[in-house]
Amino acid sequence: MTILLLGGTTEATGLAHLLAGRPDLPAILSLAGRTSAPRAAPLPTRIGGFGGVEGLVAHLRSEGIRAVVDATHPFAARMSRNAAEACRIAGVPLLALVRPEWTPGPGDRWTTVADMAGAVAALGEAPRRVFLTVGRLELAGFEAAPQHAYLVRTIDPIGEVALPNLVEIRHRPPFDDAAERALMETERIDVLVTKNSGAAATRPKLDAARTLGLPVIVVDRPPRPEGVQAVATPEQALEWLEWVHAGAP
Ligand code: NAP
Repeated sequence: MTILLLGGTTEATGLAHLLAGRPDLPAILSLAGRTSAPRAAPLPTRIGGFGGVEGLVAHLRSEGIRAVVDATHPFAARMSRNAAEACRIAGVPLLALVRPEWTPGPGDRWTTVADMAGAVAALGEAPRRVFLTVGRLELAGFEAAPQHAYLVRTIDPIGEVALPNLVEIRHRPPFDDAAERALMETERIDVLVTKNSGAAATRPKLDAARTLGLPVIVVDRPPRPEGVQAVATPEQALEWLEWVHAGAP
């Protein structure tokens, strides 16, 4: 059977490494192509969209895909919806590999919002120094709040954003606690804005904010497609693939 692994996350890379040692479970990793220099993958890799649900159904059929693991980012809602619909139409088993959400602990000062517009609103009217770590494709919404000073951290260049007071820094995770604290102190950050990605590699900014007593605006995850079985770790996803491979119902 051929497996299609929808990637773009650390968990997808983890599963790719597990599958690379399993010639009995041949798999293809699929990336959207958003990152200009993705990390080298241990599996054959295809890059670029499928062309919506129809395109993905056609791909599943033409490539003889027998199982799909959706290990896309928790905010890649369109891809997850398309995968659920396409697998339903093509009759291909689908598993979601989703890391757990971050949850606030003692000392955290979180405001949870439903979406990016909610994050913009939660910043308020008074100018603040904002550490914005939501990804370069989400920045346009913050043009509605140009009174704030933004420190924007991304992996790739952000392109044109109409904000008068914006400083761009580029770093690739993982980050560490002490460096995050130092950055927020040096930049005199008042508030951190983040998606609830749940990634261990980007978690240190939350710990640093807690240590510094800073408020954090956390954007909630979009809803996941209903009826799709989900696991949290690459090892559990591998068990599921073995189970499907063994011809389980
Ligand atoms: P999205 O809005 O859900 O998807 C938009 C379109 O991109 C999809 O309809 C699909 O195009 C294509 N696509 C997405 N993931 C793909 C994959 N793994 N393989 C092939 N095509 C894919 O997704 P997004 O939020 O732009 O995320 C794009 C990629 O970046 C995903 O792989 C995701 O895991 C990764 N990522 C996203 C975030 C985030 O915050 N959103 C953060 C880190 C990494 P077609 O309709 O043409 O098939």
